[in-house]
Amino acid sequence: MKIRTRYAPSPTGKMHVGNLRTALYEFLTAKHAGGDFMLRIEDTDQERFVDGAIEIINKTLEETGLVHDEGPDKDGGYGPYVQSERVKTGIYMKYAKELVDKGEAYYCFCDKERLASLKTEVVEGKEICMYDKHCLGLSKEEIQANLDAGKPFVIRQNIPNEGTTTFHDELYGDITVDNAELDDMILIKSDGFPTYNFANVVDDHTMNITHVVRGNEYISSSPKYQRLYDAFGWESPVYIHLPLITDENHKKLSKRCGHSSFEDLIQQGFVSEAIVNYIALLGWSPEDNREIFSLDELIKEFDYHRISKSPAVFDIVKLRWMNGEYIKAMDFDKFYEMAEPYLKKALTKDFDLKKIAAMVKTRIEVFPDIPELVDFFEALPEYSPEMYTHKKMKTNSETSLQVLKDMVPILEAQEDYSNDGLYATLCKYVEEKGVKNGYVMWPIRTAVSGKQMTPAGATEIMEIIGKEETLKRIQKGIELLENA
Ligand code: GLU
Repeated sequence: MKIRTRYAPSPTGKMHVGNLRTALYEFLTAKHAGGDFMLRIEDTDQERFVDGAIEIINKTLEETGLVHDEGPDKDGGYGPYVQSERVKTGIYMKYAKELVDKGEAYYCFCDKERLASLKTEVVEGKEICMYDKHCLGLSKEEIQANLDAGKPFVIRQNIPNEGTTTFHDELYGDITVDNAELDDMILIKSDGFPTYNFANVVDDHTMNITHVVRGNEYISSSPKYQRLYDAFGWESPVYIHLPLITDENHKKLSKRCGHSSFEDLIQQGFVSEAIVNYIALLGWSPEDNREIFSLDELIKEFDYHRISKSPAVFDIVKLRWMNGEYIKAMDFDKFYEMAEPYLKKALTKDFDLKKIAAMVKTRIEVFPDIPELVDFFEALPEYSPEMYTHKKMKTNSETSLQVLKDMVPILEAQEDYSNDGLYATLCKYVEEKGVKNGYVMWPIRTAVSGKQMTPAGATEIMEIIGKEETLKRIQKGIELLENA
């Protein structure tokens, strides 16, 4: 049997890390087994619908390479793929009525006031109003009279108060709950739309879905879904409920942390391949300790049996590291295209930006690291003369002052102002003085950059800023040391 999975987002806003992980695991579960991955839009909750959200879903799936085989734009014979369009086909009402006929569901005409007067119970921290089955007692005639009178109604699932219900999850095993804990949930709302709870069952079955991967917030409702499958006499799909994703403080990852959605991460300079790679590891791990995976490699390696039940911590420091690895491995032209706007943020003068880009490529983790790393090319920052003193290089303010002073006539006479030419000249000076390389390079690099750490050595920097600017900066260093 061919594996069929679906990503079934509700278009309610951004693509959160948890949503993207669900989509990725659904995609990988299908692709690993040569199956099909489907996109279904769950828009039956019209109040939560957000304009533009469907575009965000499509764009994110495209950018991350999670290409669906079937969906609203690709008919595979199981459409429509948007629930609001499926409503129009009458499919949900038809199946709800089938349940009513079987005694597994019933019409409920209770108004808001009556529902508000019912007792509430706290289940898993949430206040839940257990419906008291009031309308289950209505006679056929009473129901018909209400329907004829056009009285608004919902259709509820009929769950007995006795006994238990068991469903199976691939990771959690068999989960059994007392039926008394299960509410007679609404299947069809008064606006004629199905609830998510009903639509997911009807759709997964009629669309031939074999594996359902979703967040573990759905575990508590799954016994009710299982009862629906059983009532219809359908086989339920394989369930894989995913562990919670938390922030560094082990709290549920939320908007507050500032990096909870794919768009946030892209905006913060992460590349989509690194995000996908990182998210793949939020709950799943390969047999070895390998961490870097392309999407194709993930397809090959991903086995849902290796998903963990323990919460996964979203570690931004680790993602930054991983992103840096992707940047290092990136093709230079692609890197330059992405780096250019950040280079231009810091550099307005006529520099060779490609050369500077090559210097920073192996030194950044995310693109926004760039401006701070290169801004000294544009203007020498204020710096302390203490920076000239370096124990290992055996330099101090006196030795540095001497080197800088010696450099002025040497550089004035220098014709070949390329990195190689400058390097040769400085090496010659090092040799003549019989000192270590750093004894000369350290003070010069300090003078031309004003920084402790630079993405390049002294002569590379000098080549970029040019002779005139080099001499100005060396002069500045001399003044600084003389006045220290
Ligand atoms: N529409 C649901 C959501 O966005 C999908 C849950 C499921 O995958 O069954 O959370």
